Amino acid sequence: MNKLKLFLTLTFFTSILLYIAASKTINLKNTSLNQNKNLITKTMNPYYSNTDKKKLVLPDSVWKKVLPIEVYEVSRHAETERPFTGKYWNTNEKGTYYCAACGNELFKSDAKFSSSCGWPSFFEQSNKESIVYKTDKTYGMERIEAICGRCDGHLGHLFDDGPAPTNKRYCMNSIVLDFIADKK
Ligand SMILES: [Zn+2]
Repeated sequence: MNKLKLFLTLTFFTSILLYIAASKTINLKNTSLNQNKNLITKTMNPYYSNTDKKKLVLPDSVWKKVLPIEVYEVSRHAETERPFTGKYWNTNEKGTYYCAACGNELFKSDAKFSSSCGWPSFFEQSNKESIVYKTDKTYGMERIEAICGRCDGHLGHLFDDGPAPTNKRYCMNSIVLDFIADKK
């Protein structure tokens, strides 16, 4: 009888552990690329779209539910990722960059330049609606905050020391960017 109890208890806890492991995998894999359309879908985030331009106004509680915590902290609370740690600071593949929170198109890879600052840097946004600005006076500095034109999520900052022709430098956080490579 005791052996049976032990067996049942072990089975119960093993199932719980397997369930936790499985949900973690699902969570990490909630992003998938539709290769025919070259568009991303996110199963946990119904607001995400690479084609819908409609402005998104959602309460913080909804963002907290649909975004992975690292994306949420940067996008909704203007956290900054550590330099030289992000996925895209040192890449030069051809394609398009989108907001990782809502899917809005932000940059073409042609506008990316290699900057030594440790964050992905661009000299021009995809179109006028891609990115909007706000004055940021935190940390005793006055900087221009770059915000997603569709979801108002924080992306990074805009500086005036970029290369020609725009002389702009959009200093972005990799974690709030999604990249889709051009079809070969
Ligand atoms: Zn967005």
